[in-house]
Amino acid sequence: MNFLEERIVKDGVIKEGNVLKVDSFLNHQMDIELLDRIGAEFKARFASHPINKILTIEASGIGIACMVARHFNVPVVFAKKSKTINLDDDVYTAEVESFTHRCKNTVVVSKKFLSPDDHVLVIDDFLANGCALQGLLSILHAAGATVEGIGIVIEKGFQNGGRTIRNLGYHLESLAIIDKFNDDGTLTFREQ
Ligand code: 5GP
Repeated sequence: MNFLEERIVKDGVIKEGNVLKVDSFLNHQMDIELLDRIGAEFKARFASHPINKILTIEASGIGIACMVARHFNVPVVFAKKSKTINLDDDVYTAEVESFTHRCKNTVVVSKKFLSPDDHVLVIDDFLANGCALQGLLSILHAAGATVEGIGIVIEKGFQNGGRTIRNLGYHLESLAIIDKFNDDGTLTFREQ
């Protein structure tokens, strides 16, 4: 088990509906040393890519992306959830269905902050069905930016997102992939 898998086993809480709560260390209370290690790990895995920007999505991706960005010395842009339908010419928009909240959000990124010159690493906390990621990828596509890679902290391997994204040819790295929530309350991680 790697450092993250060990922490998930120690402090993760399995909820109904195949939801894993990691809010004591990852996305509510945040263990900054752990996030720093996560940043170092992504830096090592994407070392050969000319990354000049990190893109994530509000809200739980932001803290993680910032810590990763310290290792790349690049800025972070986060897609904002917008309550109003924003039809301005100055933003890229995408529709994202929330797995945990079961609602649809429009997310927006200002055109000021993404351009064809950008080489982007996408970062998020979880990958489940891949909706959040598909939204970010469509924004990057609209901007003409290059997707250098995708870094996910926890992938739920029994949902479709990871397979779909890999089949599209993206370089996707997930630090922990959960293949099964077992009936006895344990988790099965994919060997990587
Ligand atoms: P997707 O769009 O891939 O279906 O879901 C990804 C988003 O849903 C992530 O940004 C994350 O916030 C949330 N999410 C999905 N599964 C889980 C889970 O098991 N636990 C938590 N805490 N969040 C999840």
